[in-house]
Amino acid sequence: MNKQLSQTNSKFYARALTCTLLLCFLASVLLAQTRKSSSIPPLDSSFDDSHFHLTNYIQEGVDIHKYLDIMGSRVGRSTLFGIPLQQMWSFQNSGTYAPTYYLQSDAPLYYYSFTDAYIAATYNSLSATDKQRFDPMITGFNPADMYAKAHIKRVLLTFPGVFSGIGEFSIHKEFVSAKVAGEVASLTNPALDSIMDFAGEVGLVVLIHNDMDMPFAKAGTEPVYLSQMKALLKRHPNTTIIWAHIGLGRIVHPVQQSASEAPSERNQSYMQIVEGMLTDPALKHVYFDISWDEVAKYLTYTPQSLQNSITILNRYPDRFLFGTDVVAPTSPQMYYAVYNKYDALWKGLKPETSEMVRKGNYERIFNAARQKVRAWEKQQGL
Ligand SMILES: [Zn+2]
Repeated sequence: MNKQLSQTNSKFYARALTCTLLLCFLASVLLAQTRKSSSIPPLDSSFDDSHFHLTNYIQEGVDIHKYLDIMGSRVGRSTLFGIPLQQMWSFQNSGTYAPTYYLQSDAPLYYYSFTDAYIAATYNSLSATDKQRFDPMITGFNPADMYAKAHIKRVLLTFPGVFSGIGEFSIHKEFVSAKVAGEVASLTNPALDSIMDFAGEVGLVVLIHNDMDMPFAKAGTEPVYLSQMKALLKRHPNTTIIWAHIGLGRIVHPVQQSASEAPSERNQSYMQIVEGMLTDPALKHVYFDISWDEVAKYLTYTPQSLQNSITILNRYPDRFLFGTDVVAPTSPQMYYAVYNKYDALWKGLKPETSEMVRKGNYERIFNAARQKVRAWEKQQGL
């Protein structure tokens, strides 16, 4: 009797265990599918990416779902744009060698406006929940063209409910500006003013790349494009503007006061220029992104330059945004390298500064933009 009872019991327990395991398995499959079909922005993410290129200089890139996988729960939200310039493959120049980067050919770059349609279509292919994680940007216009504003307006009217900003577009950029086919862009061109005005009117965030100085500039001289840039920014007080890379380039290094300066001192003089802008009430609509591994290198070059960077970010925590500036990442390693390069900075900043630079400022700026642009679209009857 006892034996029979224990046999019945063990059969019962075995069945119960099988059922529980099956339920667990089904639940995990369902959960994985739910996560895949609608990735909810994670609450405990490390950062939002204010500067991200989905495609490269030949308009090829990473599939948006692959990017979502890479973002996982470490990245909450991200901007989304391609690159407005296309590297021409000139058979005359490189023969059968197909260049994928602007340094790989002497052939010109040209504006590839289809990038905006591509970004919009990619965004529109996402689920409503996934869309919440992206802020697409319009880039496919020539900033030297008086018709650029018309292009931006056309993109908004053709793809309502999509875009939050314009950029990254470039005015002065080492190696690139001189390769662009046609008239060269300039900070003093009225075409650029009409773009900036229109962005302000609609509520689009502007992400502009403009080297503060020329490559290999002489020590002790004022950065060549600084005063023109400040004047441009001041002409558009109603536009929210992010100056990409705080005006630095690969070889457009932080300003040097004399040739004998140590790199840390160089960083200090440069930070004085940036601080001068941050304290100017006429530039309170201007923000800086610290994207690009080259910028991470300059800002953390020596213990002194790291300290200078920490000081200025802690002093103006609401004016800086983190971004990766990674182009079409093929792996998490490639994508997270820039964020990891700033490890010492994240550790050195006050917790509230770090939170604002990594996430808070992005969310405040882009939430406001989304709201304004959607309202403008509604006014247009869309
Ligand atoms: Zn960029």
